[in-house]
Amino acid sequence: MTKVHNFSAGPGILPAEVLKQAAEACINFDNLNLSLLEISHRSKNYEKVMEESRAMVKELLGLNDNYKVLFLGGGASLQFAMVPFNLLFTEGTAGYVNTGVWATKAIKEAKLIGNTQVIASSEDKNFNYIPKGYEIPSTLDYLHITSNNTIYGTQMKEFPKTTVPLVCDMSSDIFSRKVNGNDFSLIYAGAQKNMGPAGATMVAVDETKLGKTGRKLLSMMDYQVHIKGDSMYNTPPVFPIYVTMLTLKWLKNNGGIPWIEQLNQQKADTLYSEIDRNSMFVGTTAKEDRSHMNVTFVMHKPELEVEFDKLAKEANLSGLKGHRDVGGYRASLYNALPLESVNALVQVMQAFEKKFA
Ligand SMILES: *Cc1c(COP(=O)(O)O)cnc(C)c1O
Repeated sequence: MTKVHNFSAGPGILPAEVLKQAAEACINFDNLNLSLLEISHRSKNYEKVMEESRAMVKELLGLNDNYKVLFLGGGASLQFAMVPFNLLFTEGTAGYVNTGVWATKAIKEAKLIGNTQVIASSEDKNFNYIPKGYEIPSTLDYLHITSNNTIYGTQMKEFPKTTVPLVCDMSSDIFSRKVNGNDFSLIYAGAQKNMGPAGATMVAVDETKLGKTGRKLLSMMDYQVHIKGDSMYNTPPVFPIYVTMLTLKWLKNNGGIPWIEQLNQQKADTLYSEIDRNSMFVGTTAKEDRSHMNVTFVMHKPELEVEFDKLAKEANLSGLKGHRDVGGYRASLYNALPLESVNALVQVMQAFEKKFA
């Protein structure tokens, strides 16, 4: 099989060994001679998968015992609604930092549920930077931020310091670097960017913050119901959770967060220094806010894009097309992408410059 360098923004690349193990489990899971897809989620073998997945999230995020970990359906997009539903008091106000398309969607849902205040935004410059130095009213029920902006290629290098409970959408950089999970009251992440396949969303929530809004909740929208059911109130997305468990084990066995943080830094440094050196390309974001996960860049002469695309295809580079809101290119350097793939992209950029500069 030809080796393809997969820069897809999402669903994104997974470790090859994880894909193999996942494929095997679809045929014969745990030597049961049954597929993972055809056994009860209440079986001992599957309950172990759920327990291990939840425990590994707690360990990798360094969460204390107040936190409960859930794997839910509905994507990160359902969390845009579940967060205010569970944390926004009926008479209270939620604060949001608007750093892109996903944050905008989160704000839209929150507004449908209660008082919502956008306390900072980078919309004035097409979201190409992270707002800083804004005031956070201490009366907010929570402050919602997006740690990494998948579409625009910006990333928060520091999180706001506040006594207000922090809620973070970490969909596209979870487990990519060291964070102190206990600084957040709630972290959520769709699996399909940096953790597993589409279909499961991880929620880690400080249980002591729940049940206080004065709102009546639908069962499926109530974190407390899911916590009580050990994340199996209804049939959980069994396969994505299993593959997430395999991916987190892969991460842990290779050296955990310190290992991946260093590797991700190296991958990002390699690509950004080529973008800055290469006369054909320019980065689209403020340098201090550059994402280590999604690297966005455009061409000085966009009419040459077809030529670059040809070279990229010949070198088996896949998934580089930029989001329509930014144009140009986006290279996603998620955890499972090896440095070798970044080097392959850099080589193509250099060959392109030689030919067309
Ligand atoms: C992809 C993405 C989402 C949306 O995830 P779905 O699982 O498709 O709902 C939300 N937030 C961020 C930061 C994302 O990258």
